[in-house]
Amino acid sequence: MNMKHVRTGLILLAVSLVFRCAVAQDLITSTEPGSPLTLATFTSTPHGYAVTSTIVYGKKDLLLIDPQLLLSEAGHVIDIIKGTGRKLTTIYSTHAHPDHFLGVAAVLKAFPDAKYVALPEVRERIVTAWPARRNFWFPTYGDDLPSEVAILPEPLAKPVLTLEGFDMPITREQIGLDGAGNSFVYIPAIDAVVAGDIIFNSHLRPPADTVPLYATLDRIAALHPKIVVAGHQAKGTANDPQVLNFIREYIGAFRMARLVSTTPAELQEKMLKLYPGLGREDALEQAAQQIFVPANPK
Ligand SMILES: [Zn+2]
Repeated sequence: MNMKHVRTGLILLAVSLVFRCAVAQDLITSTEPGSPLTLATFTSTPHGYAVTSTIVYGKKDLLLIDPQLLLSEAGHVIDIIKGTGRKLTTIYSTHAHPDHFLGVAAVLKAFPDAKYVALPEVRERIVTAWPARRNFWFPTYGDDLPSEVAILPEPLAKPVLTLEGFDMPITREQIGLDGAGNSFVYIPAIDAVVAGDIIFNSHLRPPADTVPLYATLDRIAALHPKIVVAGHQAKGTANDPQVLNFIREYIGAFRMARLVSTTPAELQEKMLKLYPGLGREDALEQAAQQIFVPANPK
């Protein structure tokens, strides 16, 4: 090996170390050392919709919830899984939106023995909704999407995931911040709830009728979780159950700001001042635009 090769090798090593550090910094571990299971989350960049992937692992095996949207972001998740030295046994999607399932194509390529599962109704929604969604997502992201064909999950016979003997019941068909059809996973062994898009720990779109949303939040709160994972959040956000209160506070602040704003831009500005650095400003923009649209005359 000549000096040029040695130099190239060193540069490649340095680049790979910087990359690994960047990924490690992006990983938020929420469980205490010595917990029966470890839960950690990775959140994508705003370009990838700030979507959260959750990994849960025991002594040997690992489970992944929501495998990202983009190829580039799923690649980080793959590196994280490899770095744990555990075997990926199961991948689960909380609901049928592409930002929570499309990356599975890349993950399954890296771990072909893993099983991809979802609730039967989620599988059905992927089948019916993907063709139209594909027409939106591909012109938007092109080559950074892992697959033009949606890989279909195996329908779960029972709403429960299992890892190394620990059961994780799934509560299905919940109404959350991104509409109906969401599920959440409860992990009693570590008092955790992985909530998918029931919860955004970021700017969000307040629903006109908050009653069903708040009923879902109450169902989660009744489990007294110590860890709550939101489907979307800013990088580095702790998976704190305080998010259940944050959503109510944010919606209250949004409604108050609406009362004293005359344009969507003014409303947005007020909310950005109240909640700086929260992430998903695109959701706030949509919410602000929407709330100024006059209601249909009856
Ligand atoms: Zn989402």
